[in-house]
Amino acid sequence: MERIQRLNEKDTVAGEYVLYWMQQSQRAQYNHALELAIEQANALGQPCVVAFGLMPDYPEANARHYAFMLEGLEETRDVLAERGIPWIARHGSPPRVALELGGRASLIVCDRGYLRHQVAWRQEVAREAPCRVVQVESDVVVPVETASDKAEYAARTLRPKLWRHLEAFLKDLPPTPLLRESLNLPLGGMDRAELRGAATRLQQGPDVAPVGSRFRGGARAAEDRLRELLQDKLSRYADHRNQPQTDDVSYMGMYLHFGQISPVYLALQVMGATHQPAKDRDAFLEELLVRRELAMNFVHYRPDYDSYACLPAWAQATLADHEDDPRSPLYTPQELESGQTHDIYWNAAMNEMKARGYMHNSMRMYWGKKILEWSRTPREAFQTALTLNNKYFLDGRDPSSYANVAWVFGLHDRPWKERPVYGKVRCMMASGLERKCDIRAYVRKVQELVQQAGR
Ligand SMILES: Cc1cc2nc3c(=O)[nH]c(=O)nc-3n(C[C@H](O)[C@H](O)[C@H](O)COP(=O)(O)OP(=O)(O)OC[C@H]3O[C@@H](n4cnc5c(N)ncnc54)[C@H](O)[C@@H]3O)c2cc1C
Repeated sequence: MERIQRLNEKDTVAGEYVLYWMQQSQRAQYNHALELAIEQANALGQPCVVAFGLMPDYPEANARHYAFMLEGLEETRDVLAERGIPWIARHGSPPRVALELGGRASLIVCDRGYLRHQVAWRQEVAREAPCRVVQVESDVVVPVETASDKAEYAARTLRPKLWRHLEAFLKDLPPTPLLRESLNLPLGGMDRAELRGAATRLQQGPDVAPVGSRFRGGARAAEDRLRELLQDKLSRYADHRNQPQTDDVSYMGMYLHFGQISPVYLALQVMGATHQPAKDRDAFLEELLVRRELAMNFVHYRPDYDSYACLPAWAQATLADHEDDPRSPLYTPQELESGQTHDIYWNAAMNEMKARGYMHNSMRMYWGKKILEWSRTPREAFQTALTLNNKYFLDGRDPSSYANVAWVFGLHDRPWKERPVYGKVRCMMASGLERKCDIRAYVRKVQELVQQAGR
């Protein structure tokens, strides 16, 4: 029940179907919102319909993001059809499409998103729909308000609160069969050819090229990556958390971002992989549950999550104290984006991000810290890091993007020994990379990846 929230005071009306307005949770399985919509349709003896609004100007989206998302949606449409459920995609902003199709619905069920525009869209639908609108949380394990009623200070303060609830929320979600025939309702929407045409148009932007076969979008690709993790990579996960030259990561971030895989399912699969060492399972669950849900907590309770003002007061004060410290070298945002600084490790990270929309977590930390060190002001650095993050990463534009970029500047961290430019904000040095990992092997790995991308 904690996953379910009524968004308006209206009643269920005598409509033609139950509508699931899909926006964040773009999958046909392990989707609590979808399963609730089917249950409600069965209870009312009605069909169930899924609506999706495809807009060409989604906030900060570019060709790379659209390509990945549309690969996933085509598969979602097919799997829903196998379950007897029509997926109706129309051109338009998500709330407008939800309201168009919601005009004939008895009840609208939607999934949950935490970013500003996602919250505003749900409010708009709740306000204007003629029927009840119910929101179902399906993209975090423990619903944010259940875990905590405030912005948490750090991972250590959220961790015990999450663990207290894990057993209650880590539950299997078997599919509910839909009882009423729904596929032949005359509701229009894009057919496969139109969807592919829209995909082609959206992928032709001049800005950031799709990553192609390096990362395919969709639940099946996510499942393949998960199998690799469970069978093999997980056994090295804890030791390789700070080894960017290795490939022992899950690559789940991008699939989670587009709602193509459920975090509940993912956590259950990792917990069940008892043939792998407990320390690796625990290390993975720490990232998936604590770090990821700390990011959700942050954007939910801090409406200024994307502005410099979201940083803790101590961090803003110390960065202000050091704002006039000389920076050497000093790079403009454009110079940074070109990936041609004096630092070959940093350039490799920037080039990996541009070529394949991904970067290992330990390099993301180094990458962000150096932007702080080499920019004219901390505010400019914050903006540069967030812009590049959201432009190039497949998992960018996510609550984890905002929380982690802010982490670079002191969020969810504590004061450290004071130094130039950084003040008391934690710093990172190239010598640390050289000591802790095989950073030259990472540079070689990226050179190969970039060469492959150019072929
Ligand atoms: C400066 C900076 C920017 C970042 N930008 C993003 C971003 O735009 N989008 C994004 O999803 N993550 C971001 N992260 C967090 C983390 O680096 C990525 O989630 C992770 O590298 C994704 O790769 P993976 O799925 O292979 O991770 P794995 O190491 O396999 O981790 C498994 C899962 O745990 C979660 N996770 C791991 N680390 C973190 C973390 N620090 N915070 C929150 N969740 C985490 C993710 O859901 C991830 O998929 C950023 C980190 C830093 C330091």
